[in-house]
Amino acid sequence: MSRPRPASQHTVRRHNSALVLDTIASAPGSSRAAVAARTGLTKATVSSLVDRMIGAGLVVEGEAQARPGPGRRGTALHLSPAGPHGLGVEIGVDYVSTCLVDLTGRVRARWLRPSDNRASAPARVLTKVAAAIRLALKQNVPVGGVGVAVPGLVESASGILRVAPNLGWREVDVRGELTRRVALDAPVLVGNEANLAALAELWHGHGAPDFVHVSGEIGIGAGIVVGGALFEGVSGYGGEIGHLSVDPHGPRCPCGSRGCLERLAGQDEIVRAAGVADVSELLAGLDAGHQAATTAVRAAATWLGVALAGAVNLLDLPTVVLGGTYARLEPWLRGPLLAELEHRVVGSAWSPVRVVASPLASDAAMRGAAGTAIRAILADPDLFVTSTLA
Ligand SMILES: [Zn+2]
Repeated sequence: MSRPRPASQHTVRRHNSALVLDTIASAPGSSRAAVAARTGLTKATVSSLVDRMIGAGLVVEGEAQARPGPGRRGTALHLSPAGPHGLGVEIGVDYVSTCLVDLTGRVRARWLRPSDNRASAPARVLTKVAAAIRLALKQNVPVGGVGVAVPGLVESASGILRVAPNLGWREVDVRGELTRRVALDAPVLVGNEANLAALAELWHGHGAPDFVHVSGEIGIGAGIVVGGALFEGVSGYGGEIGHLSVDPHGPRCPCGSRGCLERLAGQDEIVRAAGVADVSELLAGLDAGHQAATTAVRAAATWLGVALAGAVNLLDLPTVVLGGTYARLEPWLRGPLLAELEHRVVGSAWSPVRVVASPLASDAAMRGAAGTAIRAILADPDLFVTSTLA
């Protein structure tokens, strides 16, 4: 059995760099002295770490701060918008989207390409995704990490997609295949799209720390956030609300079960029941008050309410965030969904469930993917400092 050993100087510096950068990220505009006070590090240590991070393009200095009394005035420290960016990718069922997000969380560029990924083998789709990544890499912006959102169960440690029922994929090494195709220097992180969408909602959305984010596209996924942290289950396979069976005698699902929520309330089913071609036509029909469109969305809201009431009864979550296509349908989903929640959630009289639309809508998974790449940089900036200064 190995015994704990003292941390090396390098390990200590690596830890302290992350601590300092995290402080600047959570309190932008702090001076070196304020960072020292907040972290408990000496001013000399903070100054030395900050100077290295300015050199590596992670931190920038702003205006000198007015300060009463004697002594040198501090300058405001910020994460550098010109520093390493997170490249976010979402492999959807019928599109591939990418974005570049800077360290401060601002989206610098985004691309969306329709692509029927159900009709293609994984290798062909990943070749398209690699081309999308290469296009983003040509933008003359430093990229410090790539996050990839996929609509299936992902083993996060290995980046292997175990199964994606709506794509018909099994055991695809998404990280390995993309790294090989693009010859990337930057690390690639692969995650479930619903979990990444929930994280984006936590970082950039409606601002509450406890919620279930349910995104409706062709598949339906949920991300559960409790106390400001993602709950993804023991293996990372949780949140599969789309495969919660709400009608045990309902239609068969590609997952092998029957009456899964996404067979009854997914985008394809709503569009089919409304007798329209796509979501734009559905929205036009809803705006015009067409009966078939209204009835189709109401039916989906009821099934969604049954599934979400189960989740809320089990987990006691105060807020439901509607994401993806559901965010656009929120004005029509809200009424019947709230009625179902009120009726079925046992604690609703004392703790009514709030329903809100995600401001990120269909961008959430891609933003969450970019965000995880950025957080990986912030969590270990020394890797970046060393490679830049080397
Ligand atoms: Zn299913």
